[in-house]
Amino acid sequence: MANLNVEDVKNRVSAAWNDVISVLSKKIELGAVSAKGITGDHMRASAQYVAGVLREVGVDARVEQSKNPDGTPGAFEVVGSRIVNPNAPTVLLYAHHDVQPVPDASEWNTDPFKGTEIDGRLYGRGSADDGGGIAIHYGALRALSEDLGVNIKVFIEGEEEMGSPSFIPFIESHKAEFESDVIIVADSGNWSAEIPSLTTSLRGNTTVDVKVKVLGHQVHSGQFGGPILDAYTLASMLIASLYNKDGDLDVPGIESQEPVGGLQRDLDESQVRADSSVVDSYKLAGTGSLAARMWTKPSLTVIGMDAHPVEESFNVIAHETRLRLSLRTAPCQRPEAAQKALSDFLVANAPFGAQVTVEPLDNGMGWAMDPNAIATKDALASMKDAFGVDPINKGEGGSIPFIPELQRIFPKAQVLVTGPEDPKSNAHSPNESISLSGLESNIVTEALLLSRLAK
Ligand SMILES: [Zn+2]
Repeated sequence: MANLNVEDVKNRVSAAWNDVISVLSKKIELGAVSAKGITGDHMRASAQYVAGVLREVGVDARVEQSKNPDGTPGAFEVVGSRIVNPNAPTVLLYAHHDVQPVPDASEWNTDPFKGTEIDGRLYGRGSADDGGGIAIHYGALRALSEDLGVNIKVFIEGEEEMGSPSFIPFIESHKAEFESDVIIVADSGNWSAEIPSLTTSLRGNTTVDVKVKVLGHQVHSGQFGGPILDAYTLASMLIASLYNKDGDLDVPGIESQEPVGGLQRDLDESQVRADSSVVDSYKLAGTGSLAARMWTKPSLTVIGMDAHPVEESFNVIAHETRLRLSLRTAPCQRPEAAQKALSDFLVANAPFGAQVTVEPLDNGMGWAMDPNAIATKDALASMKDAFGVDPINKGEGGSIPFIPELQRIFPKAQVLVTGPEDPKSNAHSPNESISLSGLESNIVTEALLLSRLAK
């Protein structure tokens, strides 16, 4: 292949720029809202459009309808490959072509299904999540053109926003076809439009239902109140016992972890406070960097609690209550192990010997990148070349469930999580947008990365 330098790649991306924007704008107009039905004609049209765009850049892309686990027809997936040299490394490019719904278009300043450029950003549903991912792959392949030195496989999913129900069976039935050395998941984002990031980790998740019972039936609070505490109070004591005085979760067997790849820059407390709308008097719980607390340490949330509504309350001691607890787990801990540690602790620490029973629910594994993988180093070097500044590693407090699944199905592949978003993107919210300068730098990054991986 030709020896492309950074300036060559930048020039090629500039030359292709109008087409990149028109591809992304057309994609927005297709309104591929998977919540309106993954098998709908609008989803088929979106998949066919994306396949056509990929064929323009040499990928033999086609649309295939997946099967749901129950055997019914599933999402329209775009798959394909471009083989340049059987001995060269193979890179699987992932993005998704479905988008979040728009429950109320009046909350938007522009038509959500028309790409609208304002002040260096393109607005529209799916402009970033994940039309931006498709635009990155398209732009990078377009820029490299005949100088592509790696084999490419693509998987553009049609139901990511619906939780990917047929993802695992689809990947497993196409395992040989998707086998690759590196997987680039372009569905996350950068520190900012000017500062690039690899997404270094995702937390896992486990959920349990907890029943706290103190009485066989409710009794009068005037008659029995005192020695007998109500189930809500006992449940509250039980929850409180999971924390130390600093507000760190303190349960033996629930692991904690520091930011993967090292912490280059901590999150800004005032930004976190503003974004979360926390009340002024609140002191943020826990110890250590904010990044560790939000990305890699475990966190527990009571996501449901059965209690009398205040309006209908009367003077009784509640005999029992039920809670649903959601535990975000450190990226590298098996969620089953955290679930067991949590369950054992809750049962062993029942306040005043109340009856505590725990029902285990779903588990989802977290994920951590390998900071020493060659692809990781190549990606960071490409980011620096494209953006002109050092990248800042960024974790995610939430989960992207298919990433650990990809890693499980392809254990030898080096998975890189990149993406089009920046903090102003408003993915999943009204006024979603993508930074155009950020998109351009992301495309240059991916083109440089594919060149480096070829060596
Ligand atoms: Zn997405």
